[in-house]
Amino acid sequence: MADVEKHHNSLWEYSASPQVETPALAGDLDTDVLIIGGGYTGLSTALHLGESGVRSIVLEAQEVGHGGSGRNAGLVNPGVWLLPNEVEEQLGKQAGGRLNAALSNSPDLVFSIIDKYEIDCEAKRNGMLQAAHARSKVQWVKDRHSQMASLGLPVELITGSDLQVMTGSKVYRHAAVFDPRAGTIQPMSYARGLARAALGAGATIHQNCPVQSLTLTGNRWTAQTARGSVRAEQVIVATNAYTDHFLPQIRNATVPVFMFQAATGPLSDNIAGSISPRRNGLFDTRKTMISSRIDDAGRYIVCSAGRMTGDGRSLRTNWATRVRDRLFPQLQGQEWKFWWSGQMGFTDNHLPRVFQPAPGLTVPIGYNGRGIGPGTVIGKTCADLVQGGSIKDFPLPLKQVRVESWRNVRAAYYELGTRLYNMVDSRV
Ligand SMILES: Cc1cc2nc3c(=O)[nH]c(=O)nc-3n(C[C@H](O)[C@H](O)[C@H](O)COP(=O)(O)OP(=O)(O)OC[C@H]3O[C@@H](n4cnc5c(N)ncnc54)[C@H](O)[C@@H]3O)c2cc1C
Repeated sequence: MADVEKHHNSLWEYSASPQVETPALAGDLDTDVLIIGGGYTGLSTALHLGESGVRSIVLEAQEVGHGGSGRNAGLVNPGVWLLPNEVEEQLGKQAGGRLNAALSNSPDLVFSIIDKYEIDCEAKRNGMLQAAHARSKVQWVKDRHSQMASLGLPVELITGSDLQVMTGSKVYRHAAVFDPRAGTIQPMSYARGLARAALGAGATIHQNCPVQSLTLTGNRWTAQTARGSVRAEQVIVATNAYTDHFLPQIRNATVPVFMFQAATGPLSDNIAGSISPRRNGLFDTRKTMISSRIDDAGRYIVCSAGRMTGDGRSLRTNWATRVRDRLFPQLQGQEWKFWWSGQMGFTDNHLPRVFQPAPGLTVPIGYNGRGIGPGTVIGKTCADLVQGGSIKDFPLPLKQVRVESWRNVRAAYYELGTRLYNMVDSRV
């Protein structure tokens, strides 16, 4: 497996709703659509196919939510990292416009699925702050707000004492863009809830079932596993940054970048309320971004770039403590109770990609760390596409596989860069 660490110490694993129970794959099966990967993309595809009465089988190498979907920070943001006009610059007006239209309301789809299927995942649609971490970033935040407002996005610029009340931080007191479309979830519970909804809609899921090979004979694909095989005309490969060696080209189509998180135990209502009275998420303007949020039990959770394993662990936790105490002095002395990391797939233009390397094979990939909304939406549009939907309605141009150049060198460079940053950073 490409994966390098289990969920040891993950808060989301600890506090999630129960995992779905699924049968082991046995023998050789046929279905309409085979989905490889049990994260948001694969499960949303399976759910939406099921809602249309189309048969699908999801093969997940480990457990539902094992990849980014069970490890992320749970910040449900609209759009992608780039602003809508920057997306159009990258993809062209027509294709860029399609992607913007599909993703600008992606939290609507996430929260409507949560409502419809009564998914118990700490869902809150309380908006999100992107806050300047230093005075030098105030103009950048103001410019971002003006650009977003001029595009008709319903954002607010928050400054001064209002902001300090909303963040409880003297560092985040200058300026922030508030986006009311966004919200937060318990990410593992959302993944498991999607799986439960997909099962209810008629999909089949087999966990602990890594695909070892995928071959095309005539117009049918066969996914071989140790316990049997699945044949289908249409395959969605939804393994994203966790793609292992069974499809080496797809594995090389993104640069793997690690993010880590650390969480305290439950805080008193006073302290939790002083950090985030509205319980909205926050991310900042650092190049190596930091995000902060509080979960339903009142735990503070910080997220930033880097890998929380081996010798990186004490470096990251020490840095997280230093940063946390400067951002939120009211948290001094709180112990970290959980720490974990996960892998994201990066692309050179910061945009997701969808490959169709062969007939019947569709591969959405590379959400660049913003995958809750995009994974859910792209999963739904993959379901439409395999049912004969028009390529013109698909949010991204379907391309041949493009391998990221210098993938391993770039991955090592990012990891080393974050380590150096954690070592020398004392300015927050
Ligand atoms: C630490 C971290 C923080 C993040 N924070 C946020 C955030 O706050 N907001 C946000 O929107 N996004 C965030 N992201 C990004 C988001 O989590 C991902 O983009 C999203 O979960 C990707 O979903 P997916 O279904 O495409 O892939 P994944 O969830 O990664 O699922 C891929 C699955 O494929 C399986 N697999 C791999 N190989 C095989 C095989 N051979 N056979 C069968 N199955 C296989 C894996 O086991 C895995 O379960 C974050 C990511 C990380 C790592």
